[in-house]
Amino acid sequence: MNTRPEPKEWILGIHAYTPGKSKASDGRALVKLSANENPLGTSPAALEALAQAREEAATYPDPGSNALREALGALHGLDPQRIVCGTGSDELLNLAAQGFAGPGDAVVFSRHSFAVYDIAARRCGATPVEVADRDFTADVDALLGAVSDSTRVVFLANPNNPTGTWLPPAEVARLHAGLPRHVLLVVDEAYGEYVDPAHQRAAFDLASAHDNVLVTRTFSKIHGLAAERVGWAYGAPGIIDVLNRIRGPFNVTASGQAAALAALGDAAFVENSRAHNAAERARLAEAVAALGNHGLRAVPSEANFLLVLFEGELSAETALEALAEEGYAVRHLPGQGLPHALRITIGRSADMDRVIACLRKLCGEAP
Ligand code: PMP
Repeated sequence: MNTRPEPKEWILGIHAYTPGKSKASDGRALVKLSANENPLGTSPAALEALAQAREEAATYPDPGSNALREALGALHGLDPQRIVCGTGSDELLNLAAQGFAGPGDAVVFSRHSFAVYDIAARRCGATPVEVADRDFTADVDALLGAVSDSTRVVFLANPNNPTGTWLPPAEVARLHAGLPRHVLLVVDEAYGEYVDPAHQRAAFDLASAHDNVLVTRTFSKIHGLAAERVGWAYGAPGIIDVLNRIRGPFNVTASGQAAALAALGDAAFVENSRAHNAAERARLAEAVAALGNHGLRAVPSEANFLLVLFEGELSAETALEALAEEGYAVRHLPGQGLPHALRITIGRSADMDRVIACLRKLCGEAP
């Protein structure tokens, strides 16, 4: 007989998620360019809604996030009945795996993609299947080649974290078209609002037309509400019904619902955040390209960060330490097979100046 509670074996296979750092090894606070948060903060309208909602802390929130779902539906031209909100999109990714996969089933995703997919698969006892990518980009043929009779869920982060790469709508449609109809395709668009607006509807349209596509979005990135933990998902009624059965009954806080609702109404903040990100990302990419002769290379990104590869004499570790010395926390992901890379969140302009100057100095170039 066991003398203590025995965890499920598949739970012990999980490596807990490692969050981005905000402190140096000596405890000094650093400017956080390690968690892909919005450097412009939060919409003032959302902050005001947040403060007001906090005054009503004694009552439970709306269990169905109804006003928020209605507003999301109106903004994107989607049926609110096909939307479910979650405690961050993290909750929804986990529920998608749990609702459709279990012991004996496989959950497929690309190498160098979001760390939560492996956790989500293992949490429900399913087997994670990691598929080789190509040039740090999801490889549709390889993903389809990895699908077997036991596959139940395929996760695609688009744009992808931590590489920033993006599959155009035709490639996502090709991935979907190659999947058996009983396999759920989860298109994780946590960074979807940073993409060219002309392409932002494509995954919603795919999910409107098919019963096996779920699109997830978040308020944590462009809306600057990571602390409030609000995400949402759009899909066919059968998928949304499953997620509603297993989500927490009051899974989005009252303040989170109120702030997200106000954030949706502040289109100027979103547009400003997108424009700032595009300009500063291009500037960082250009600066890294100029250091190409020192072995630095930026992976093309459609997200709010840039993955910088260190393939010359300067190592990622040395750059990580020098940036910390300069006051910046960026993300080193050796555990995800990227020991030679740093993921740098696009920050405020003055911070990007200093990051660029630091990289140039490390390469022996004038700042
Ligand atoms: N998907 C991807 C690709 C992400 O990078 C993140 C945040 N790191 C999430 C989902 C989850 O974000 P949240 O739970 O804050 O919505």
